[in-house]
Amino acid sequence: MEVCYQLPVLPLDRPVPKHVLSRRGAISFSSSSSLFGAPDPRQLSQRRGAISYDSSDQTALYIRMLGDVRVRSQVGFEPERRSSHPYLCIDFRTLHTRPSSGSTSADSSPERRVHRLLSFQRYLHSSRLLRGIPQQIPLHILDEDYTGQARCMLEKVGTWNFDIFLFDRLTNGNSLITLTLHLLNQYGLVELFQLDMLKLWRFLVMVQEDYHSDNPYHNAVHAADVTQAMYCFMQEPILAKSLTSCDILLGLLAAATHDLDHPGVNQPFLIKTDHYLATLYRNNSVLENHHWKSAVGLLRETGLFSHLPAEDSLNMERELGSLILATDISRQNDYLCRFRRHLDQDNLCVSNASHRHFLLQMALKCADICNPCRPWELSKQWSEKVTDEFFQQGDIEKKHKLEVSPVCDREMNTVGNIQIGFMTYVVEPLFAEWTRFSDTRLSHTMMGHIRLNKASWGALLREQSSVAEGPSSPGTDPEDGAATGGSSSKEIPQGSRES
Ligand SMILES: [Zn+2]
Repeated sequence: MEVCYQLPVLPLDRPVPKHVLSRRGAISFSSSSSLFGAPDPRQLSQRRGAISYDSSDQTALYIRMLGDVRVRSQVGFEPERRSSHPYLCIDFRTLHTRPSSGSTSADSSPERRVHRLLSFQRYLHSSRLLRGIPQQIPLHILDEDYTGQARCMLEKVGTWNFDIFLFDRLTNGNSLITLTLHLLNQYGLVELFQLDMLKLWRFLVMVQEDYHSDNPYHNAVHAADVTQAMYCFMQEPILAKSLTSCDILLGLLAAATHDLDHPGVNQPFLIKTDHYLATLYRNNSVLENHHWKSAVGLLRETGLFSHLPAEDSLNMERELGSLILATDISRQNDYLCRFRRHLDQDNLCVSNASHRHFLLQMALKCADICNPCRPWELSKQWSEKVTDEFFQQGDIEKKHKLEVSPVCDREMNTVGNIQIGFMTYVVEPLFAEWTRFSDTRLSHTMMGHIRLNKASWGALLREQSSVAEGPSSPGTDPEDGAATGGSSSKEIPQGSRES
């Protein structure tokens, strides 16, 4: 079997700047939670108290609809209910398995113990092998033409209209590995941090494999897309001139791993089905904690940072966690208010390590939800994929007679109305502040795409409602005002950085 693509040649002739290596010890770490330990109860109470869920606050309301569970958690944390809960039988490891996978044998307790040592994705792979089901072989092996085209695309990796779907096809489904490795090399981080190339390779392969390819949205292509966006944001002048190599390494690794082993269902689902992860993390940033701990598991398993002093390695893991935990959408208001306060007071200081870390958190949050800021052709595909995943969850909830999550009911929602709500209450407020922070052509391009994409969804909704209700019916979408003057994809300008 041919190898699909080659390892890039490392720039071995550059010396390791001593100041970078010595700086690592000087970085301050804000995270107080212990690795692999239970969440700090003080942290829980602080965080619960920090967010207002005033029903008049549309943004908070929408975020709560999307996935916040702390309102539910006020009912009480009752681990003893696990054994008697009627929904315990639902195991999300089986959610996206194909019919050909057959039934799982996850009931025996020794086997269950083994499962928990593995990521869910690797459990599925290993269980298929144990049952004698051969691994799926890629249908096509890439030839030089594909590799060459992928390499050409990487030359424009910093452009905002970078087509990650095409890049994923050109790399035979290896976009996350190829892109991350390219960026780490481009920054010279492999030699700077003296990373062992084989360990790095193994780490990236395992990261990519631990994303669930069966998830319509939360898969390795989403992680690659977020990594590419993170790179674009870190290249913005205000950050490019101030970020250290350590910041950049953490930013890229956090983007690549931020949804690691995502099960394709949201936190409320895990809580209402009494999933053990919800118990483990006490209903608190359940998925994000799992993504972080999964990433730390792979770092330790591959020994990627094993050559660093133990303290530095632990600090890297904590910083990684702090970045990944910031992607919890239910904490959006906390971050947005803090960001707004800093901008109002004009007191963000990029020479301050904790401020730079906060800016990395904001950059990763922006990267994670930047789909509506992309050109329509890309944005529309992401919208359909995420809605597909929501609706799959809704179907499972209906099947098991669970309460259907608000945006997961395919009979009550459309791609368009979900997107318009998401853009209005979550994406626009965040990117408006980001534009205040980084007032560049890229930021204005992104804001332009949000407006035009929202208008396009509005126009599609009006079209659908006029077809459904007859030609005399006026548009009834509450966001019509925002969507006035719907556009076609042809009207959407290309971003300023792409050329
Ligand atoms: Zn994500």
